[in-house]
Amino acid sequence: MSILQQTFNHVKEPDIRAEVRGMLYGIGSEPPRGHWVQILRVNLNRPCCINKHSGKWDEPNPNCKACEGLGFFPTKVYTMAFYSFMSGDEKSAAPEILHIHGERYYVTNEVFVDQRQAELSALYEILLDANGNIVEPVQRVVRYNIKAAVPYREDHGKLQYWALNVEKQEV
Ligand SMILES: [Zn+2]
Repeated sequence: MSILQQTFNHVKEPDIRAEVRGMLYGIGSEPPRGHWVQILRVNLNRPCCINKHSGKWDEPNPNCKACEGLGFFPTKVYTMAFYSFMSGDEKSAAPEILHIHGERYYVTNEVFVDQRQAELSALYEILLDANGNIVEPVQRVVRYNIKAAVPYREDHGKLQYWALNVEKQEV
């Protein structure tokens, strides 16, 4: 083995997925910086009250109880999410961070398979106890629609995490 190869084998890329997971769930003595949320994750292979007409999907029934208005049958997923409010100041200080203004959640890479699935899903704040654990039975507090899901990738294209731009839905 050449010196170059030996050196190369020791170069480890920082695992940003692991860092994000550690930030959200806590790692070592670091407390979690995320909190539990419920995500209604749609199954794009299982349409509910939605049909395709000449290649385009129509609007789902907002009052449908089976899919909760999403159009596709969802699965309830519980995951840690980090919440932030992006203000106009942050936006102007870092214009390369897209046109962000409003509420945003960060979740780990494995929560969604792709952008379309993320943007058709919904996120709920749920009741947590003083230790941050989910109160059972689960009680929903606020519903958010996911307006835009931004996949953060490293240079090689590997998905690191999702940023979800959300909008509170009045119920
Ligand atoms: Zn439905």
